[in-house]
Amino acid sequence: MTTAYSEIIDRIAKDHNIKVIQAACVNQSWACNDEIWLGIYEEPEFHLLSFFHEMGHHLDKSAWHLDDKATKYDIEKAAWYLGYILAHKYAVKFSNEAIEWGQKQLRTYEKYK
Ligand SMILES: [Zn+2]
Repeated sequence: MTTAYSEIIDRIAKDHNIKVIQAACVNQSWACNDEIWLGIYEEPEFHLLSFFHEMGHHLDKSAWHLDDKATKYDIEKAAWYLGYILAHKYAVKFSNEAIEWGQKQLRTYEKYK
C-alpha cells in the first residue's frame, strides 16, 4: 500500500465513520456494519478499488432482503456502481487494468444471476 492510497482510505473511512481493519486474507475483503475488512492484494490499486467496492456495500441502503428477485449478483453490481460513484466524488481515478480486474471480480458472481 502506498501512503497516498492509505491516506485516501483513512480520509473516506473517517468521513463515513467506518473502521478499516487489515484482514489476513488474500484478494478478499468484506463489509460488516460499520467495519470494512481489507485483505491483501498484490496490486496497491486493487486494494484501493476493493476498499471502494466495500464502501459501495456500506452505502447501499437498498432493502435487498425485501425483494425476492434480487440476486447476489445484483447486490455485488450495485456495490461496484456505488463504489465508483464514491471514487468519483473524491476525484479518485482507476487505471483500465484495475477496472478490468473489478469487472472480473463481479463476473465471479454471474452464477448467482
Ligand atoms: Zn462485494
